[in-house]
Amino acid sequence: MYEQTMTNIAILGGGESGWGSALLAKVKGYRVFLSDSGILAPRYREALALAGIPFEEGGHSQVLEMDAELVVKSPGIPDTAPVVRHFADRGVPVISEIEFAGRYSTGRTVCITGSNGKTTTATLIHEILRTAGYDAALTGNIGDSYAAQVAECDRQWYVLELSSFQLDGMFSFRADIALLLNITPDHLDRYGYDMGKYAASKMRIAANQRPEDVFIYNGIDPLICGDPAFGGIASRKVPFRSREDSSEPRGQAGAWLSGGNLHAVYNGTALEMPLSALGIKGNHNTANAMAAALAALAAGVDPETIRAVLGRFTGVEHRMEEAGTVAGIRFINDSKATNTDAAWYAIEGTPGPLVWIAGGTDKGNDYGGLKNIAQGKVKALVCMGVDNSKLIEAFTGKIPQVYDTRSLDEAMRTATACAAAGDTVLLSPACASFDLFRNYEDRGRQFKEWVAEFKWNRE
Ligand code: ADP
Repeated sequence: MYEQTMTNIAILGGGESGWGSALLAKVKGYRVFLSDSGILAPRYREALALAGIPFEEGGHSQVLEMDAELVVKSPGIPDTAPVVRHFADRGVPVISEIEFAGRYSTGRTVCITGSNGKTTTATLIHEILRTAGYDAALTGNIGDSYAAQVAECDRQWYVLELSSFQLDGMFSFRADIALLLNITPDHLDRYGYDMGKYAASKMRIAANQRPEDVFIYNGIDPLICGDPAFGGIASRKVPFRSREDSSEPRGQAGAWLSGGNLHAVYNGTALEMPLSALGIKGNHNTANAMAAALAALAAGVDPETIRAVLGRFTGVEHRMEEAGTVAGIRFINDSKATNTDAAWYAIEGTPGPLVWIAGGTDKGNDYGGLKNIAQGKVKALVCMGVDNSKLIEAFTGKIPQVYDTRSLDEAMRTATACAAAGDTVLLSPACASFDLFRNYEDRGRQFKEWVAEFKWNRE
């Protein structure tokens, strides 16, 4: 177990991650102080007060006076923030909640990263482990803080969804089972528009792994297999290949497709099931299911349980979620598609004709790749955002009708006016939501509410 020699710890950020880190620090006997530049949610303010943890909000003046020996930073705060630089420049280690909590947990970890599919795959793996009777928590980017759980009652298994921001603050953390689903452009604004830096951050999921650990990865992703760090990975490499023409893995472990069936093998234990029996649909979800099956086999779950959960799990809210059919028009809520790759898969996997609603806060998007897939299938693009100029410019002349709208209501009225019976209205924005909505959940919920009201008015 980790030997604690330091006493003063500063926690930057007071959301779920910061609150959990502060609690764990307190339980482990540190002198802890939490600082947030914004205003804390009342529940965190009350919880900190109750736990006797001092804090400041609305600025960092007090923490800057602190003689901190360790800083735990929430993933939303960039390394370039002046308060982070203040400590880093003085040689104070700045780590993530995951790194911090990992030092105090004896639980085994299944860690999932990638540009897309993390929540779906992590939720699926957690569901399989729970069904198999494991004492497992789903955490990281989702649910209750990892650190808070370690503080309150350490679990035997953690399924951790990890963003690249969390991976950046991890140094000695070691995943028992690591999954890397894919690497495609996202959040490039935080990586100096350098794809190599972003990929290097994702590859950190396998850093510190030992030969007895497992690295499950997308064997047809050129950015993973071609990454400079790939050759140096010390753990057991287990690929999944979600293309029918991909060859069966040569080693003892891996997943592949053949004859419309999904196959996964690990240490001589084999699982096979028809793709048509999977609860989650689309090529991208087949890849997620393969990765989840391998992780569960590596964790020792029997194939029967895995097959049963893969059959009944139909996905997570706001990810290609059926939002209803009204007057023959199908509505799909894919609000979580906040980058172009996720939108690409949504368009590819949804039968046309499509009325596509996209737009929002641009994260340095390149729409080049979307033009081909949209052309011929998307009959109308409804741009929904404060500034739609980049989208309009990219798709004018490629898609027959392109509309500029500034609110959800306007976008939905426009979309339903364009759509005929048999068409699908697909909300798959390829952008973040912060210009018009609180977050992607808010955007997806408003979309579904609009559809429900539309239905009510029609019946
Ligand atoms: P994440 O947690 O990585 O953001 P989600 O499971 O929440 O991933 O899915 C985010 C978006 O990406 C959704 O629009 C979903 O339909 C799409 N998606 C899910 N899995 C994949 C995948 N393997 N490849 C590409 N897109 C995917």
